Amino acid sequence: MDGTDATMHDPMTETRAPAEQAARDEATYGRRLGYLFERSPFHTRKLKAAGFDTAAACGGLADIARLPFTEKDEIRATQAAHPPFGEHLAADPADLVRIYSTSGTTGDPCYMPLTGRDLASWIAMSSRSYTATGLRRGMRVVSTYNAGPFVAGAALDTLTALGVCHAPIGLGNTARLIRALQLLKPEALLCTPSYALHLTEVMEGQGIETRTLGVRRICVAGEPGAGEPAIRARIEDAFGARLCEAMGIGDVSISLWGECDAQEGMHFGGGDHVHVELVDPESGQPVEKRDGATGELVYTALTREAAPMLRFRSHDHVVWWQSPCRCGRTTPRVRCIGRTDDMVIVRGVNLFPTAARSVVLGFAPRVSGAILLRPTQPGVRQEPPVPLDVELAEGQADDASLADAIEKAIRATLIATVRVRLLPFGKLPRSDYKTKLITR
Ligand SMILES: [Zn+2]
Repeated sequence: MDGTDATMHDPMTETRAPAEQAARDEATYGRRLGYLFERSPFHTRKLKAAGFDTAAACGGLADIARLPFTEKDEIRATQAAHPPFGEHLAADPADLVRIYSTSGTTGDPCYMPLTGRDLASWIAMSSRSYTATGLRRGMRVVSTYNAGPFVAGAALDTLTALGVCHAPIGLGNTARLIRALQLLKPEALLCTPSYALHLTEVMEGQGIETRTLGVRRICVAGEPGAGEPAIRARIEDAFGARLCEAMGIGDVSISLWGECDAQEGMHFGGGDHVHVELVDPESGQPVEKRDGATGELVYTALTREAAPMLRFRSHDHVVWWQSPCRCGRTTPRVRCIGRTDDMVIVRGVNLFPTAARSVVLGFAPRVSGAILLRPTQPGVRQEPPVPLDVELAEGQADDASLADAIEKAIRATLIATVRVRLLPFGKLPRSDYKTKLITR
């Protein structure tokens, strides 16, 4: 940060005219296609199989939707066939400075190699995002990331680069976190929205007056949900703090998006490094980028050296805005409404568990806010009603009229029919990381 504009990390990029940004990205993309054909056997093979024999045949960014997507499973497959990095390692191994890995639900972890320039571009992008969410040089910040082998580790590099005073507390010990909040009196807390909700509940249960802690900023990331109004209001009211969210995707960059004080969606922070598309999640066809459009984000890394990504499907569903924001940024904004993995379709209507949780939270203080959606049929399409477990608040008795009222509210708000089962307080799992809201 140069200190000339404390609210933006990189004003030149963040306030650039969209047409000028598009022209710059067009030039970078042209070079990028050449790089892929020269360096990436993985992408070259895919492009040739799709009928694109040369970089020139691929056309420009206006033609990018003709090129094949890249799915995470393809990255896993190429790494399994050509360990450890797969055929998409496009840099000299001697130039790698960092290797992150994903937890990997089955088998070996998926490795993500970065060159020095890759790491620097991640820090540049996430510095824009974190500054948008309110982090400033000298601000005392408590984080709860357990970085370990994961890409969240690069967030720690970013906090150092931003010059915040960072106290990493990590996960797994809520009592230790509460003491840190009480003794260190940080201005900002970094955690997942699930953990912020959980923390609110624990501290209220212990009679701790959360508003007196002095936390003014809560920056959440790691999962969707913080955009839901009831969830945001619950956390902000509890702490008397402003909540802003950030979002990234490990294979492309940490914290690609960050929400400003206007709180009308997360700004894109990937200018000059990442091209983003909006597509229909079912057909894969492009969706016109305009205010209120919904679709799935698809990313192309324009400058990534080690593990370049072309049309990487995020499976993140968003609402998109691109009208100018009152913060002065010209970059597009999104609100993540959920992930494909968590979605069910009920009579043609998408139902995300985070949205259901938000409606349920409207019934606080009679409910705790913990829910679990339990689809019964295999696959994403479900016949109504979809079973939904809702946990009662402490000391609340089962009440058929409450279940009925929640079902009606969800039908009215989300156009989906669920059958609510009320559970006693404490029956549903809490998490200090990402809370599971759906079980199949
Ligand atoms: Zn803004």
